[in-house]
Amino acid sequence: MRDPNEPFENLRPLDILAIAAHPDDVEQTCGGTLIRMAEQGYRTGVLDLTAGDMGTRGTPDLRIEESKRAAGEMLLAWRQNLRWPDARLENNIGARMTLAGVIRRIRPRTVILPYWSGRHPDHYRACEIAYEACFLSGLKRLEEDVPPHRPFKVLYSSLYANVTPSFVVDITRQFERRMTALFQYRSQYGDAPEGSALFPSHAEIEERLASIARFYGNLIGVKYGEPFVVKEMIEITDVVAMPVRSI
Ligand SMILES: [Zn+2]
Repeated sequence: MRDPNEPFENLRPLDILAIAAHPDDVEQTCGGTLIRMAEQGYRTGVLDLTAGDMGTRGTPDLRIEESKRAAGEMLLAWRQNLRWPDARLENNIGARMTLAGVIRRIRPRTVILPYWSGRHPDHYRACEIAYEACFLSGLKRLEEDVPPHRPFKVLYSSLYANVTPSFVVDITRQFERRMTALFQYRSQYGDAPEGSALFPSHAEIEERLASIARFYGNLIGVKYGEPFVVKEMIEITDVVAMPVRSI
């Protein structure tokens, strides 16, 4: 993984950037897709907005350290953490400008955002800030010295949202690697006694995530899948080659 202190200017553009509220979010929601895309030769990256500093377990530094190990497992070319305040994310001009600055420098073609509604305010707020930052980032006059860039595609990771996905990615071959990435967060999933009433065990987490991945995989006739929503229509150019059996 790239040294986080290296200037953005030295970075080759990313093909895919996932933006998430907390370290360990992408490992649960779209990590399999990121792994699969990296295996297909794309440059993938993750930007975590907070270090999860309101969490019962672990410290921000520890979680960032763990997120770097998880990045290696997910074959990411780049991962950074903005260290914004956990559980207090605010959509303000400062946040949008900072994020737009990052997007201009790493120039992703596709971004993956958390689904726009959900239980945790950080998740839907991260979605809103990131969407607006992607828009801002395309405005020519935003910054004099960095050229504008607007991502082409925005995907919403809808794993925890009770909505019908627009499409599902087959992650059958990536599922184990995604689990290994998640369990790099030993402070969160280490079966430690502290907060154990609140935190499920290792085995329980694995079973839960496997059931969810099986549910979505089943929708496209494979073992494990990850769901996404897009706001625009999906174009098909070859109806004969369409996957997923109808009857
Ligand atoms: Zn989260």
